[in-house]
Amino acid sequence: MHEFKFRDGELYCEDVPIQRIATEVGTPAYVYSRTTLRDHYRGLEEAFSDLPHLICYSIKANSNLAVLSTLAAEGAGADIVSGGELYRALSVGIPAAKIVYAGIGKTEDEMAYALNSRILMFNAESTTELGVLDRVAGEVGVKASIALRVNPDVDAQTHPYIATGLKEAKFGIGIDDAMAVYEYAASLPNVEVVGVHQHIGSQITQVAPFRESLSIVGELVKRLQAKGIAIRYINIGGGFGIPYRQEKVPYPRDYARELEPILRQSGCTVILEIGRMIVGNAGILLTKVLYRKSTGDKGFLVVDAAMNDLIRPSLYGSFHEIAPVMSEERERETVDVVGPVCESGDFLARDRELPRTEPGELLAVMSAGAYAFTMSSNYNSRRRAAEVMVDGDRFGVVRKRETYDDLVRGEIAWD
Ligand SMILES: *Cc1c(COP(=O)(O)O)cnc(C)c1O
Repeated sequence: MHEFKFRDGELYCEDVPIQRIATEVGTPAYVYSRTTLRDHYRGLEEAFSDLPHLICYSIKANSNLAVLSTLAAEGAGADIVSGGELYRALSVGIPAAKIVYAGIGKTEDEMAYALNSRILMFNAESTTELGVLDRVAGEVGVKASIALRVNPDVDAQTHPYIATGLKEAKFGIGIDDAMAVYEYAASLPNVEVVGVHQHIGSQITQVAPFRESLSIVGELVKRLQAKGIAIRYINIGGGFGIPYRQEKVPYPRDYARELEPILRQSGCTVILEIGRMIVGNAGILLTKVLYRKSTGDKGFLVVDAAMNDLIRPSLYGSFHEIAPVMSEERERETVDVVGPVCESGDFLARDRELPRTEPGELLAVMSAGAYAFTMSSNYNSRRRAAEVMVDGDRFGVVRKRETYDDLVRGEIAWD
């Protein structure tokens, strides 16, 4: 469910006409619905309310401070993968005691920052990382609580770039090595083992891969507890998929219903690290048609948003629905929707049947709340888009469109 809907042939976000945002803020712009963010977060909270649990919002999906502060006000924790994300989380008041830190390449500086901030735990991904963390924790004088990220070797049946739970992935510790690495971790003086972590991939559209991996992880927890290694947290990761083209995906309550037996039996607090499901359908990318052109028998719509704004189609071949902001009846045509960037891979849609639009008209690229602005760049020296938050009949710019000065900030024309 989301709050981007047509009223009398015109697209609205909540009670604000999208056209008005384009007029006042310009394009390209990301537009987020605060009500949708809250609804998605509350849906997850409710689904897992029968279990002791903590929902850590995955900041990398969308790290705008207005998104984070909205979720912080709902009581969300944070799943971070860098010192920068820790800084963002703390700056909107997410309590350190609700922050978990994953990633295979944490630096010593980042570890010290997280230790000094007293985060809930590190999700450690290798033996060598554990060794470094133990030393840094000793230097800082703060014990490091850890979960080990184990790799259950299950196929999440998603795009290979975002499948992370197969044994050839760079993430986590192989399930067969997990016992030995846990014993090593338990022997370290400045490390306290508190949990087990998995994250098997993103945009997963079935419950089955979670059931499969959690039964493996559940067995591991039992073996650890039998060895006197007290596991208090099971972190099931994220990856809950969303509909990009009205496909059927499980609801939070479907995950909760199917996974609850295993989770309850463990006696642990459950951590969920959810990004896309909270924010993916809470945002659109608003863009304007610049030109129509054709080469041979191919038609193109050249728009003012590009792969530097939204790289998912270019990077993963992802599908984003595209709709004119004004939806009156028109003839349909099949076109590629492309941006101004000097790459043939710069497209938002290929061979897409759309209502015919003319230069100056607005298009909404739907489901662009997650892994969208956060993956944007300045390629071609394009200024990054503005971001706008809508709440009811109000809207505000929550990140200004970059200026040319922003583009060269920190650079020196050295001679
Ligand atoms: C990216 C990531 C998530 C969030 O994944 P979504 O598919 O956005 O829910 C959760 N945990 C870890 C460790 C991640 O890297």
